[in-house]
Amino acid sequence: MKRSRVKRKTGLRKRSQRGKLLTVCDRLFRLFILSRRPHKCEWCGKPMEKGLQISHILPKGRYPRLRYCPANVLLLCNGCHIFKWHKHPLKAQEFIERYKGEGYYQKLLVLDKIYPKLTMFHLNNLIEVYKKYEKQRRLGDNYTKENYYQAKDLIAS
Ligand SMILES: [Zn+2]
Repeated sequence: MKRSRVKRKTGLRKRSQRGKLLTVCDRLFRLFILSRRPHKCEWCGKPMEKGLQISHILPKGRYPRLRYCPANVLLLCNGCHIFKWHKHPLKAQEFIERYKGEGYYQKLLVLDKIYPKLTMFHLNNLIEVYKKYEKQRRLGDNYTKENYYQAKDLIAS
């Protein structure tokens, strides 16, 4: 009894550390995508400065390697993400084939074979890369005292 409890504890601790890294990486990845795409919902076209959500074309649960693959994500407004994307998968699929071209799912499946497994090591590396990118972006063209401190906060987190 005692032994199995200890084992389970270790397992939980490991998972939660990974969970924390995924949370950090999700946030940085979203900033990365936002910095490279127009700030509007990719489905309905609604312009939005805040609240755009990362939506995975191939679900991140089943395709964990494509969690941080830019080709596998869309920026969607809350309405499209919750009420269209997740509620009407067939409509979502039709939209993707119209928006990205036929055979897009096959292309993503190929990427799933190429992308590395999301180990803790790889996850830590990704976080470093995205932090560096975000820092440079914020300190880049429109440098202000405010974004300098934002970048510092981000690096410290
Ligand atoms: Zn929308």
